[in-house]
Amino acid sequence: MRDEQTFSFDVCVVGSANLDLVATVQQLPGPGETVAGDTYREYPGGKGLNQAVAAARAGASVAFVGAVGGDAAGTVLRAVLTNDHIDAGHLETVDAPTGRALIGVAATGENSIIVVPGANAAVTGAGAPSTRVVLAQLEVPLAAVELALRNARSARSLTVLNPAPAQAIDESILRWCDIVVPNEHEIELLGGVDRLLDLGARAVVVTLGSRGAELHSATGVTHVDPFVVTAIDTTAAGDSFCGALCARLAAGDELLVALRFASAAGALCTTKAGAVPSIPTRAEIDALIDAT
Ligand code: ADP
Repeated sequence: MRDEQTFSFDVCVVGSANLDLVATVQQLPGPGETVAGDTYREYPGGKGLNQAVAAARAGASVAFVGAVGGDAAGTVLRAVLTNDHIDAGHLETVDAPTGRALIGVAATGENSIIVVPGANAAVTGAGAPSTRVVLAQLEVPLAAVELALRNARSARSLTVLNPAPAQAIDESILRWCDIVVPNEHEIELLGGVDRLLDLGARAVVVTLGSRGAELHSATGVTHVDPFVVTAIDTTAAGDSFCGALCARLAAGDELLVALRFASAAGALCTTKAGAVPSIPTRAEIDALIDAT
């Protein structure tokens, strides 16, 4: 990140946008079975969209690079972005259905999920605007993640990868990452913190849910304390954390200061149900930090 450079936005998020279709049922159907559902709701989702909303609510100017279909769901997701003042000029409309997650939730809380990437599979990662920070996840093709991070590095942006959902990825992507933010499961599949530092990451932030996070760098390990809250739904906690972290890094905060802010954002997200509705604003995050 170089301050003398001019950037179009603070943060660019390259990633997925989905519409989540959620039905509650007494018992999940088995193969060949049909059951009557109790309730039905639609929610915007996808890690890319969630993280873009999180960065915007945390105070950053944000551009989103992704793809939706030319269907009603695509229109809904575009509106979600613009409602949070996120630039959707690089949200392509492609000839595929908008990504969807079909989610059944049983009375026991057990769920079963079918994710159809649809338009997300058409994201190329090309043509991102110049931004201080570029943030990517792994719900779009790995070639798109690689291209976006490589271009960002050439443009001297700070590159941040949230390697979720968990999967093994190789050096062709990891070598372009300045900061990697995995959870405990993801870091295992990536081969451990030392591998990422050896490949050139200047920091690896392992998120630990209610136990906070750990910052690993060449100088050692620092624990980032959690904020104590009453958690009711942890959906999108990691997304809130990543978006808020990038917003503060783009604003020029030191990494540990930005991590404290991100930790408050992640904690607050768990206090409300759902993904997008539970992502906190800058005012809410500042209030939690001030009260602690
Ligand atoms: P993911 O959802 O990607 O697995 P985590 O569950 O590790 O991510 O959560 C991300 C961050 O959100 C944590 O590092 C922590 O700062 C915060 N967080 C998550 N759950 C809680 C919780 N129950 N109480 C306080 N903070 C939490």
